[in-house]
Amino acid sequence: MNNEINWWDKLKEMWILWQHNGDCSKPHALLTSGKHSDAFNNGSKLVESPVMLSLVVSWMIENLELLIKEEKPIWIVGPAFWAITIWHELARQLNTKFAFTEPVQTPEGKMQVLKRFDIKAWDTVLVVEDAITTWWSITKTINVLEEIWANVLPYVATIVNWSWSEKLWNRQISSLFYWKMNIWEKDNCELCKCGSEAMRPKANRDKFTSKK
Ligand SMILES: [Zn+2]
Repeated sequence: MNNEINWWDKLKEMWILWQHNGDCSKPHALLTSGKHSDAFNNGSKLVESPVMLSLVVSWMIENLELLIKEEKPIWIVGPAFWAITIWHELARQLNTKFAFTEPVQTPEGKMQVLKRFDIKAWDTVLVVEDAITTWWSITKTINVLEEIWANVLPYVATIVNWSWSEKLWNRQISSLFYWKMNIWEKDNCELCKCGSEAMRPKANRDKFTSKK
């Protein structure tokens, strides 16, 4: 898309997305898992700015336009909780219904369930996620909807696809940005090897965004 680079710049400027530029004097991200990475997204910066969120969602819709033309969703559904305002805004702009799945702990492990919304069999659903890195929550959300026989569209929508695939199983991933994020164990980190320091991004914004 022609204006893609401007979206990227704007989101970087707002500290919503960050990617290492290959300069080993710059830090890289220490993730909550303890692993290291060369990119991250800070979706709470988007959610805390409703006007920016609304704009980003309009870009998502622009990106989805051709896909949506084929079959309009009745529902927009994503996993809870913190990013649900993104799915809500998408539903508002597309004039559809909105729902979310939510995580519960079961004896078999953490699952996503649909608790509060009356999605009927064959209702057409667009599944959305803010960023796709691992496929866990979005795959669980799709599974829950398929269990109730919803008509889950053959593509998913996201702001940024960090995964190494343009497809989620057999579903196309419609994203504003597609970059392959590297995640390393700390003892095997390419950026540590070149001398870059790993640190927590949110506590070190100045170091991550310094132009020097
Ligand atoms: Zn490292």
